[in-house]
Amino acid sequence: MRLLILSDIHANLEALEACLAAAPVHDRVVNLGDVVGYGASPNEVTDIIRDLGSLHVRGNHDKACSGVMSAEWFNQQAAFAVIWTRDMLTFTNRQWLREMPQGPIQDGAIPRVTFCHGTPIDEDEYMMWPGDALTADYNVSTPITFFGHTHIQGGFAVVGNSPDTLRVKVPESGELTIALDDGTHYLVNPGSVGQPRDGDNRAGFALFDTAAQAVTFYRVPYDFEAAARRIRDAELPERLATRLAVGR
Ligand code: ZN
Repeated sequence: MRLLILSDIHANLEALEACLAAAPVHDRVVNLGDVVGYGASPNEVTDIIRDLGSLHVRGNHDKACSGVMSAEWFNQQAAFAVIWTRDMLTFTNRQWLREMPQGPIQDGAIPRVTFCHGTPIDEDEYMMWPGDALTADYNVSTPITFFGHTHIQGGFAVVGNSPDTLRVKVPESGELTIALDDGTHYLVNPGSVGQPRDGDNRAGFALFDTAAQAVTFYRVPYDFEAAARRIRDAELPERLATRLAVGR
């Protein structure tokens, strides 16, 4: 099975459309959460991912923007975007976001894999460092975990008690494949579609081929200026527009 894995779309329609146009042939679409928040196209992206995805995990912004949790732990720009998004969402989309399932999630048709937004223990926590990955690996029953939330493409490989960062730098060509070894555990972040923070302004996603046991990371250039224009037109915080150009 070929799984197209999308995460942290963050209401960026231009980035989502570019990723879908560049996506290779796949059987299912997995959405690791944070469909909305920050960007200016919350209804457009929710409409698309709702129909496309067959496995969804909610993110912290999905919870806040649909009223499942308050925005009190968000920084000021994020909180502003939460309140704006709440006002913009249609009833149907708010309801759908509100009902997105909480991770970690496993699917009978995809053995040996766990899907979550933050970590398998806490959907709101960041998996940033090898130590975080080791803790996560202790607490998950599968050798492979896909997660989001950090907006940093790559992840970790764990052999025994030794976690290592998977350094992913997708070249100009736009793709990079990693073959998964038996006996190694992997915690993989497909990258952020709508607000990359790893210094690469191209939209990120991944494809997991279960038969080949390989993950391909993709980066796709998109019209970030158009996305930034929409953010400015919506009078969302300026920094949410400028950060798209630098991928931070
Ligand atoms: Zn996010």
